[in-house]
Amino acid sequence: MGATFDERAARAAELAGSCPAARNVLDFYRRVALFQKPVFEDVSARGETDVRVLLRHFPALMELVRHTAPEPLVHFASRELESAAEQEELLVTCWERDPPESDEARFFGRALLQPYGEYLATRASISFQSDAPTCPFCNARPVVGVLRGEGDGAKRSLLCSICATEWPFRRVLCPSCGSEDKDQLPVFTASDFLHVRVEACDRCKTYIKSVNLTRDGRAVPVVDELATVALNLWADEHGYTKLESNLLGL
Ligand SMILES: [Zn+2]
Ligand SMILES: [Zn+2]
Repeated sequence: MGATFDERAARAAELAGSCPAARNVLDFYRRVALFQKPVFEDVSARGETDVRVLLRHFPALMELVRHTAPEPLVHFASRELESAAEQEELLVTCWERDPPESDEARFFGRALLQPYGEYLATRASISFQSDAPTCPFCNARPVVGVLRGEGDGAKRSLLCSICATEWPFRRVLCPSCGSEDKDQLPVFTASDFLHVRVEACDRCKTYIKSVNLTRDGRAVPVVDELATVALNLWADEHGYTKLESNLLGL
């Protein structure tokens, strides 16, 4: 496991001050990270592995959403997640990887499954298969890349969108279609965020962002990815689709 939930919340608070365009996103994310922390501690302390144990954390999540979430999430919660049976079905569906049909369903599933998945990943001995396009532990797609080192010597790894497992992945390789053609894999940066870059593929028209920890040692990849939502808009405008949306559906 990389950054703790406290570290993620602290980084979100820090970036909310310096990235006004992403302040609402970061404020809400910080609250979700602080909700996820006791979920992680609870499943860790009890050593439970059945996904249904997460049901007891649903009321707190619903409360958080009711008071602080964007309207579509509030609406979804009141319409689709009223009963324990609906909540259980959503959790089981998300965990078994049927992609939920809506961003809202994915949010509720991931908010609970992330701390649970991270706990399970800490118990497991994961064989880090290099260059796997999906997580070697839970098979979910990566949400962000991580770069360490500068220039041609920099190493890239990918970070799982559910369990936060990080695994090595070559830089000149598309995690979506497998292209290894440097000319088809353009990299874009913006002057506002020099430590975060858009790594695109002109063959399959997808992109993933990478956070360069050498350039900003305080960065927490999953949070800095959220803070640079402006890069997503830029990529969308240029015809690239994100390989995997983040917790907030961006
Ligand atoms: Zn995973
Ligand atoms: Zn590709």
